[in-house]
Amino acid sequence: MSEKMPSRLHRYLKHYYALIDNQTVALYLRCKFIPATFDLESSLDILWEIHRRIAPEVYQIDEFRSLPPTVQSLLDLKIHIGRRMLLSCNFCNHKCKVDRTAGGLGYCGQSDRSYISSAFLHMGEEAPLVPSGTIFFNGCTFDCAFCQNFDISSRGKKKIINGAKILRAQEVDGPSLASLATALHNQGARNINYVGGDPTPHLHTILNSMKFLKENVCQLWNSNLYLSENALWLLMDVIDVWLPDLKYGNNDCGQKYSGISQYWDILTRNLTLLYNHGSKNIIIRHLVMPGHIECCTKPLLSWIAREIPHVVINIMGQYHPDYKVSADNFPEINRRVTSAEMKSAYDYADQLNLEYRSVS
Ligand code: SF4
Repeated sequence: MSEKMPSRLHRYLKHYYALIDNQTVALYLRCKFIPATFDLESSLDILWEIHRRIAPEVYQIDEFRSLPPTVQSLLDLKIHIGRRMLLSCNFCNHKCKVDRTAGGLGYCGQSDRSYISSAFLHMGEEAPLVPSGTIFFNGCTFDCAFCQNFDISSRGKKKIINGAKILRAQEVDGPSLASLATALHNQGARNINYVGGDPTPHLHTILNSMKFLKENVCQLWNSNLYLSENALWLLMDVIDVWLPDLKYGNNDCGQKYSGISQYWDILTRNLTLLYNHGSKNIIIRHLVMPGHIECCTKPLLSWIAREIPHVVINIMGQYHPDYKVSADNFPEINRRVTSAEMKSAYDYADQLNLEYRSVS
């Protein structure tokens, strides 16, 4: 009897499914097995050169190994570069260049300390991902007019949000974050889901936690993906599954509704990088916006079909006016998406033969 062909979903998320079946090794663990010789005082250029040379080895090993505790690893190198980047922060594409270790605050308003608002087994993520061990970090690198998590994402920003619900934030460092991830995995999490707000300002803490984490568990980056190219290179060999938002199909809508310059240029650059390197296991979330089928939904679906076709897409219809959106502010998006708009998005994805039905 012939073997059943794996579904397209399983092919596009091949590494993920192998990992949850314990048939492969999580990328961050592989980084611990790769020796890296570097001097802590070396320039960032030299450290990046070493990184460029040894990172490809991550994709050549698929077995558990061990290094003597005295030997530095690729993960140590990544942690060290991440700490150095904090001195003139360029984790995301705002590239604020503030020294976050000396109290400098950039656009995200986050110091070098990391806070989370909650962590739990999330049953509402895409079906293949649940239960998902989701950890919500404070702060965000965007300022979306319609943000539905503004109580978390705006925390740490200098502006005051009137009426924002105050949740108790808990500080985490490398060891405590690793303990949290271990506990979530032991409770049945199929993945550790780093989200916010946005997890990008906390990249240094997340990388550091991987030093203490031992579980062979999927690391999932759930983000707006407005990362700098260097931050992406740091994360690419430790993140098994990417769950980026792709909200807008052009720069202008990104500027208008999220206050972000070069939205489309940066997102397409980063998605192309992810697709050509790393695990290539990508689920793109697209929140359909009212009145934005022609300027956003269709152009971005076309781009995906043309440039990065082997990804899974969640086409989401749950937009609702929130935060700054009202009859006076952004009235054109002060409504829900119609069923006709959702049908148009789905029909277009069908025409392009995109893999969306399995998660949408
Ligand atoms: S994470 Fe981004 S927004 Fe925050 S300080 Fe760094 S570069 Fe600026």
